[in-house]
Amino acid sequence: MAARSVFSPNASTDKASKETEEKTSADWPPDTGSLAVPAWTEQTIPGKDVGLLAARPIRRGERIMARTPAVMVDGAAVDALPVAAVAGLLHDAASSLPRPHRAQFFNLSTNYGADGSSKDANEAYQIFATNAFRTGIADGGPDLHSVFRDVSRINHGCQPNCAYFFDPATLAHNVYAVVDIMQGEELTVGYIDPVQTHAERKAKLHRHWGFGCTCARCAQPPHRVAESDDRVRSIRSLLETLDNYTTAAGGSETGTGPAAAELLVLLFALEGLHARMHEAEYRLALEWNGAGDGLRATQAARRCLDRGLLVRGAEQAFLSSMRALVADPTTHWSWRFRLGKNDNKEQGSACTRNENGTAADMGVSERDEV
Ligand SMILES: [Zn+2]
Repeated sequence: MAARSVFSPNASTDKASKETEEKTSADWPPDTGSLAVPAWTEQTIPGKDVGLLAARPIRRGERIMARTPAVMVDGAAVDALPVAAVAGLLHDAASSLPRPHRAQFFNLSTNYGADGSSKDANEAYQIFATNAFRTGIADGGPDLHSVFRDVSRINHGCQPNCAYFFDPATLAHNVYAVVDIMQGEELTVGYIDPVQTHAERKAKLHRHWGFGCTCARCAQPPHRVAESDDRVRSIRSLLETLDNYTTAAGGSETGTGPAAAELLVLLFALEGLHARMHEAEYRLALEWNGAGDGLRATQAARRCLDRGLLVRGAEQAFLSSMRALVADPTTHWSWRFRLGKNDNKEQGSACTRNENGTAADMGVSERDEV
């Protein structure tokens, strides 16, 4: 868990800690299809409690781990029951796990206790509230939240080098490298939407997880932070205009067209938003196709697929849309749509949009805010 532990560093002398001290990705139970050389090792990281470091070079696209939940909780129960009752149920559930798994659950960090409250009374609940991921299985289904060993140990970064998604078919949480990672580099994922200004990220991380981010993006000098914030505002503006599919082609003055989408891709790269690059490439594919350039549209769609499969899994509508575009740009709904010459009537059906006009299924997973 990324939240800087509020407990004494000496807490790691307890029994459960000792059992996980030497833990690596080679430990029980083994990853199916796991790698010959462990990808990561768990270590204490100054200022951050425990985190995971790359034990060897990891290539972009490599699956680093896949984990099924230690516990899975219905959000309705959390809302309806007193904390003590939920804590009791969680404690019973976690206690029935196999011994090594149980030890790993109870050894996860919490961001409770800074106010002097005890870790003991509702320990299982505190671990859950700090480490849970939203793992809803289907739209309209139960609001499920899950805690995973190892996955919960990956710390936050505002330019994460890993991304994860929950696969409802296998109940596995998959973690992939979204850039090449050097040996010794810390593995990071995004707990929050990275398309936020420094102040917004800082406030949200502090409010929900109780730590101050020290990642490279946050630790820049003030003038660099201001430049980064300007890029965030530009990204938001471009997303808003590009996602308005009713705008006719108008070049830079309308904020649409391939040049605007190319700028979006560049801004994502400059901000280090590797885990979200599929979103920029998706817009670029639509804009090239909307302008009637099927070749460039196909190239961007392939990059969107390459990136998106890593962070969202295969079963997403926006990926189906990109596959259809690659198969035949001219029959895709976006063909020449900015030119007002679109005879393909399926606009919007391939990819549902939320109230902000963005593709609802494209966003990457974020940590829970129980
Ligand atoms: Zn940061």
